[in-house]
Amino acid sequence: MPESTSRTDPAVTSKPARISGTRKPPANRADKTSAPQWSVSDSVNLYGVDRWGHGYFGISEKGNVVVHAPTHSGVISVELTEIIDGLQQRGLTMPVMLRLENLVHDRIKKLNHAFRRAIDESGFTGTYRGIFPVKVNQQSHVVEEIARAGKPFGHGLEAGSKAELLIAISTLPGKDSTIICNGFKDEEFIDLGLQAIRLGFQCFFVAESLAELDLIIQRSRHWNIEPFIGLRLKLSTKVDGYWSGDSGDRSLFGLKSTELIRAVDLLREENMLDRLMMLHYHLGSQIPNIRNIRDGVAEACRFYLDLASEGAPLGYFNLGGGLAVDYDGNGSTDVHSRNYDLDEYCIDIVETIMASFDRHGVGHPEILTESGRWTVAPMSILMFNVLHVADFEPDPLPEEFPAEQSAAMEGLIYTLNNVEPRRLQENYNDAVYNRDKMRDAFRAGEINLRELALAENICLTILHRIADIVPTLSRPSRELMGMCDLLSDIYYGNFSVFQSLPDAWAIGQVFPVMPLHRLNEMPDRRAIVADLTCDCDGKLDKFTGPDGEVSPTLRVHQVKPDEDYLLGVFLVGAYQETLGDLHNLFGDTHVVSVRIDDDGQIEFVRELQGDSIENVLSYVEYQTQDLYQKFHSNAERAVRDGRITVAQRQQMIKMFRDSLSGYTYFER
Ligand code: PLP
Repeated sequence: MPESTSRTDPAVTSKPARISGTRKPPANRADKTSAPQWSVSDSVNLYGVDRWGHGYFGISEKGNVVVHAPTHSGVISVELTEIIDGLQQRGLTMPVMLRLENLVHDRIKKLNHAFRRAIDESGFTGTYRGIFPVKVNQQSHVVEEIARAGKPFGHGLEAGSKAELLIAISTLPGKDSTIICNGFKDEEFIDLGLQAIRLGFQCFFVAESLAELDLIIQRSRHWNIEPFIGLRLKLSTKVDGYWSGDSGDRSLFGLKSTELIRAVDLLREENMLDRLMMLHYHLGSQIPNIRNIRDGVAEACRFYLDLASEGAPLGYFNLGGGLAVDYDGNGSTDVHSRNYDLDEYCIDIVETIMASFDRHGVGHPEILTESGRWTVAPMSILMFNVLHVADFEPDPLPEEFPAEQSAAMEGLIYTLNNVEPRRLQENYNDAVYNRDKMRDAFRAGEINLRELALAENICLTILHRIADIVPTLSRPSRELMGMCDLLSDIYYGNFSVFQSLPDAWAIGQVFPVMPLHRLNEMPDRRAIVADLTCDCDGKLDKFTGPDGEVSPTLRVHQVKPDEDYLLGVFLVGAYQETLGDLHNLFGDTHVVSVRIDDDGQIEFVRELQGDSIENVLSYVEYQTQDLYQKFHSNAERAVRDGRITVAQRQQMIKMFRDSLSGYTYFER
């Protein structure tokens, strides 16, 4: 990345000197007596910014998250709070999905440059072409920016449906632009692609089955257009990660070896073997292990070389997606991570193909990759405010306890007065045992609610005393560690997991989460983050920790009563926006695209208002006019019955109308 020029105060991105907040959980309370020293480098370390931030994010000396935006005149650092101020001035309230245009351009450039470097260094005589799969983020502004950034490199688009093909045809420049048609294709899909060829596009049909190949042949004959045909391979290489189902014998897509032979025979019979130009495979998204990627390429080379020896010209070798993002920043083969970087990925691919092709004296192909996640994940940040905090702090205990005690209550009071580091596990066991005895007694009607409340409060006090000591233990038990997590706060955020972070719910995806400001203050609370939906799955409880390990709680600051506390979820540009759903009828958030100019100006290039309530109601088949009429009739009846005045009726009708046009999220 070019040298950084900061337009705000100096941004901290260097490796932090101090490791803090490791696996030992701190007690969930502020230390009011001696405010510990805390610096922004502690926050950089705690939230792992340098490990997952790809060099795009850091923290300013003022304690705000900064984005290091690559521009023509170098990297310019801008505080996110400055962008947020601009949003507020434009009347956009939280939550907001922020897209940073500069990062899309940088990713496209980096990908193409890295392959070019690998090709130059290894003496490979073929070329490279990047392809962006539209499914990864179909939003028009994103696809348009990718087409613009990709133009100098001939970067193409992949379409998995007729709708995506229409996007590709109308977004790419046209003559010689590459489009890959994947997925199941009917006659209309194929006809559209053939017309694109007529317009000058290099539009490949990757056949997913023999029946589809037959249809491609028929429609090409019908229109008398020479098709670019590809075959999708089913490789036996199995990959690690969540999407391993896309690889191996049972993968849903691709042709088996017997089908490949039948495909070649069919094309030969139809005198169209010369149109078989591409071999394609896709082993799955987010492949964490480079060895799987290498094995896949090596296996696919064997198919390529044998099909070439059958007389297919080929020339285009499409390796699909899979280039992974290091979401938790630990550089491992964990599902949210990866054990390689971009350069290693490119070199391994180029060298594996070269070695295999050279052994058979076959000319080097054009390599294509369909990297979606890697290209757009860093671009988007979900930003939201915290609306409410639920804590699990005990109430103050009475000075004296009642003289008459049950055995369980006596046990609780004894433990309360005898919490000792040497006997923490025993203290914990006793507290929970006696609390449960008190709960049994309540259920049996032997004690009243006041007595139960006292017992539960004593137990909670004991647990907090234990939690204060756990961080000082050299090897706390898993149970004690888990207990500390259960005492953490719940920070309720103004967003919907189901709408904006669906993979966090569906597959337990870890995304980096951190406060957007106050990062020069020690985050003295631990919390999970719940969303606005009334769903127990609507929460984030997996966070990247300081060493790249995943922690069930996030270190956060105490919310100040008169100030919004803002959190950001990073690396959400891939798949999240279109997979989201309308759980509880929370709609799309506002989306804002910004570009940082060469002179550091923030340009708000596109603002998209989030869904209104009227919008989301129409998605679930309500006619707002009908709803309005029913409400209107109810109000009129209430006037007739004397329950409200005409003026009140007018006020209610106005409120109803205003609500319909309002944001689906919490507004102050
Ligand atoms: N190509 C194909 C055929 C796919 O199905 C996918 C997504 O799974 C991709 C490319 C994109 O993969 P990734 O986002 O991991 O780069």
